[in-house]
Amino acid sequence: MTQPLPDALREKIKQRLSFYEDLKIAPFYRDRPSAMPRALSLETVATLNSEEDMTLPKPAPKTAKTVTSAPSAIPVIAGPRTATPPPAVPPLATRPAIEKGIFPSPLKTSNFFELLERVENDTLLKIREDIGDCTRCKLHKKRTHIVFADGNPKADLIFVGEGPGADEDATGIPFVGRAGKLLTQMIEAMGLQRKDVYICNVVKCRPPDNRQPEKEEVAACSPFLSRQIDSIAPKVIVCLGSTAAQTILQTNRGISQFRGEWLEFRGRKLLATYHPAYLLRNPAAKGEVWKDLQKVMAVLGLQAKKGKSA
Ligand code: URA
Repeated sequence: MTQPLPDALREKIKQRLSFYEDLKIAPFYRDRPSAMPRALSLETVATLNSEEDMTLPKPAPKTAKTVTSAPSAIPVIAGPRTATPPPAVPPLATRPAIEKGIFPSPLKTSNFFELLERVENDTLLKIREDIGDCTRCKLHKKRTHIVFADGNPKADLIFVGEGPGADEDATGIPFVGRAGKLLTQMIEAMGLQRKDVYICNVVKCRPPDNRQPEKEEVAACSPFLSRQIDSIAPKVIVCLGSTAAQTILQTNRGISQFRGEWLEFRGRKLLATYHPAYLLRNPAAKGEVWKDLQKVMAVLGLQAKKGKSA
């Protein structure tokens, strides 16, 4: 019979689970495939995290990220992943997009690539902990919540937006306002749900009056984005709008010059499309975005939801 837990330990575990909830990690933690029960009891968690090691769940070794052929509650979009270790950061001059002459003038100001070097064994929890109660840029002064991410930490598909708006700042969840509702519809039109994909932003705090984030703000925050991408190791990255695309691809070029084209970021497929907020102002562009999303669906082996298009 299971021994009752000491109160202090019970409290500690409760706090940790609530921390996971805040990070949106709870579903991932609970919905493990058959090896774990659907809802973990406190006693089970205590067994998984022995008293000597009540710190963090051990990050899965990169190679073990390969998926699971067992029936799984974790949505896997398009069959098993291959165990590709994260590629080494290529020297500036040999980055594929630059090599192909698509982006001849990468921004020199950002430390985005340099920080990628240290992400081995990084976990989302560690990344969130490193962000902490961030004051790295002035956006912290007016924020209500740091908006870290939403969705599936094992997603094959990641959407990257620009930065939180008022609704996101109020809730701590990305893409929940009007543009977020449209993004949710787009995801559903692709035959997925929000919980199947990972959603995050370049900057984690709301720029006042929904202005574009400034260069220094992007430079302060984008290393965390790069670590998120590496930790998730998605098959496809979709950049929503120019801030996400220009930050990840390190270019000043306008999104319309490369929207809808397959590009590569650190060995992963990347496609930039218009931001849902742009679509709210320019509904005529929805058709272009839907074509872009269909390209993504083809790569991931997805079928459009019947009767839906974005
Ligand atoms: N726009 C973004 O880029 N991100 C959000 O989270 C919401 C709106």
